[in-house]
Amino acid sequence: MAGLVIANWKMHGSLGLIEEFSREWQLLPPLSEVSVVLCPPAPYLGAVSNAFEDVALGAQNCADQVEGAFTGEISVQMLSELGCSYVIIGHSERRALYSETDAQVAVKAALVIAQGLHAVVCVGETLEHRDAGQQDKIVIEQLLGSLAQVPCENLVVAYEPVWAIGTGRTATPAQADAMHGVIRSCLCEHFGEVGAGIPIIYGGSVKPENASVLFECDNIDGSLVGGASLNANSFWQIASAASAGRA
Ligand code: PEP
Repeated sequence: MAGLVIANWKMHGSLGLIEEFSREWQLLPPLSEVSVVLCPPAPYLGAVSNAFEDVALGAQNCADQVEGAFTGEISVQMLSELGCSYVIIGHSERRALYSETDAQVAVKAALVIAQGLHAVVCVGETLEHRDAGQQDKIVIEQLLGSLAQVPCENLVVAYEPVWAIGTGRTATPAQADAMHGVIRSCLCEHFGEVGAGIPIIYGGSVKPENASVLFECDNIDGSLVGGASLNANSFWQIASAASAGRA
């Protein structure tokens, strides 16, 4: 499968950044064998959609309801109308800061897929769990809880160890590859042989300097990139490394 590299801008950026990013991006060589997705903050979805032709648009979250009196929420249908084809669901920041549960993640993922968009379901253990050697158990539990009643079409799984997000501490390629193998087995057990085709991407302090070694791993199909995705050149280098890893 082609690589998949997704930028998660979190609550960063501005119209000025979008202008600068797209100007720089257009000067960089086009990429093949990799799908590139930009997930800006929701108010900037329209501006990003207008500024780029060769990247897909994604959102960082969505409501767990179809529509109604839910002040401040954004439905999947609205995201679809704005041109989104991906939605990140259950990022560890949403789980930790907004108490999002596996059950809510599963509802959101099912809504996203029912609308024909890709659901990027995030899972990952804390440092405490890894130090206790419980990472496989925790990630499997989180994955199965987050996929209850979720179909496998248009599903993407992002493995993001919490201790590696925004910390500068990346999982070693061996740690990431091993966990992706565990996730792959779990997906195949849960969905049957179609589980083998679900992309599993890695996130956690991915940068141009460490991207190539991660993408050389058999089980890593791409990356969810936070900090390094705010700069066109560094994000392009990561996407380019994913493309080379697929060649
Ligand atoms: C993320 O926010 O999903 C992420 C992986 O962030 P960073 O790359 O900054 O660690």
